[in-house]
Amino acid sequence: MELKIPLADIDFNQEEEEAVLRVLRSRWLTMGAVTQEFEQAFAQYVGAKHALAVSNCTQALHLACLALGIGEHDEVILPSLSFVATANCVLYCGANPVFADIFGNHDLTISPQEIEKKITAKTRAIIMMHYGGYACQIEEILEIARKNRLAVIEDAAHAPGAVFANRHVGTWGDVGCYSFFSNKNLVTGEGGMLVTDRDDVAERVKQLRSHGMTSLTWDRHRGHAYTYDVMALGYNYRIDEIRSALGLAQLRKLEGNNARRRYLTDIYRQRLSEGEFFGIETPFLSNACLPACHLFPILLPAAADRQELITGLRKRGIQTSIHYPPIHLFSYYQQRFPGIQLPQTEQVAARELTLPLYPMMSEADVGYVLDGVCEEMRQAVH
Ligand SMILES: *Cc1c(COP(=O)(O)O)cnc(C)c1O
Repeated sequence: MELKIPLADIDFNQEEEEAVLRVLRSRWLTMGAVTQEFEQAFAQYVGAKHALAVSNCTQALHLACLALGIGEHDEVILPSLSFVATANCVLYCGANPVFADIFGNHDLTISPQEIEKKITAKTRAIIMMHYGGYACQIEEILEIARKNRLAVIEDAAHAPGAVFANRHVGTWGDVGCYSFFSNKNLVTGEGGMLVTDRDDVAERVKQLRSHGMTSLTWDRHRGHAYTYDVMALGYNYRIDEIRSALGLAQLRKLEGNNARRRYLTDIYRQRLSEGEFFGIETPFLSNACLPACHLFPILLPAAADRQELITGLRKRGIQTSIHYPPIHLFSYYQQRFPGIQLPQTEQVAARELTLPLYPMMSEADVGYVLDGVCEEMRQAVH
C-alpha cells in the first residue's frame, strides 16, 4: 500500500522556493550575507551570543568536542539511546565515549545519577541529548558538571525551540548543536548550527570549520583581507547560502510548527489515555520544559510483537520508526567497547515505537494512526 501517513513531512512552500531563487539569482552561493543573517537570526531566537552554521549537526558536534579541547585518552559521558553521531563525534577526536543509562519508561533522557557513576579522572565532558525535543534534567546535569569541572555539550538535534525555565534548550551548556536534516523540526536538507556564549569556543569553531584559515573567502571578497595563514588542522564544514536561505524561511515557521506538534501530541496522548490500548505507555507525561515535540515515542507492552505491528501499520499506509537501536549494541561499537550493559536503555529500545508526527498532520490523521495501532495490537499481542 502507498504511504498515507509518513513518519515525518516537510513544511516547504512558496516562501522556501522564493528564498532559494533569490540566492540563485544573487550568484553568491556560499558563506555570505544570507548565512550571516541566518546565524544572527538563530542566535537571537535562542538567546545565544554566537550561532555558527555548518553543513550538519554531526559536524557541529565534532567541532564542539574539538573546541572544548577533547582529545586522546579523554572520556565523554553520553546516552546510548541516541543517533550514532552523538558518539561518533567523540571518536573523531580520539577520545572514548562512555555510555550512561537513561531514567526509564517515563523519561528517555540520560539519568544524572547514572552520569555520576561513570565519572573518572579521565572524564572531560558530558553530552546531553534532549530526546524527542524533551529536555534532559538540565539543572542536575549542569550541577554535576560544575562540581567535577566538566564541559557540557547539548545535542539539541531534536530540540530547536524547546524552552526550559525561560531559556532555550541548547543554550544551557558550553555548546549546543542543532540539526536541520530533512526530518527534523527545522529543515534545510543537510544543515546544522552550533551555539555558544563562549567567545573562545566561537573563535575556534569559526577557524576549524573553514580549513583552520585566519581569514575567510567572504572577507577577502569584500576586500577586508588579501591573504591568509593556516593556524590549525581545520575542515571544510561550511554551509551554503541556499541552505541558509531555507533555514531563515524555516526559522520563521518554527514557533508555529512546534505549537502544532505540541497540539497533535496532546491529541495522541488524550486518545491513548481514553481507549483500550493494551498497556501502551507514553513517556514524558511530566516533562518540565516546553517541548519541541520532534518525535512521538510510545512503549509497547513486552508481550507485543513490534515487527508484526510495524508491518501491519505499513500495510495501512502508516510509516513508523524506532528511536533508537542503542549505540553500544551496534557491531562497530560492540567490537571496540565490548560488554557494556545499560538495562533501561536496552529494555526501552526493545519496546519503543515512534508514531508519525509533523505539523501538517490533521487530527483525523492522528485518529487513523491510533485506530491502526489499536487494531494491529489485537493481533500483535501474544
Ligand atoms: C539527526 C541527529 C544528529 C545528526 O544530525 P545531522 O544533521 O544529520 O548530522 C545528531 N544527533 C541526534 C540526536 C540526531 O537526531
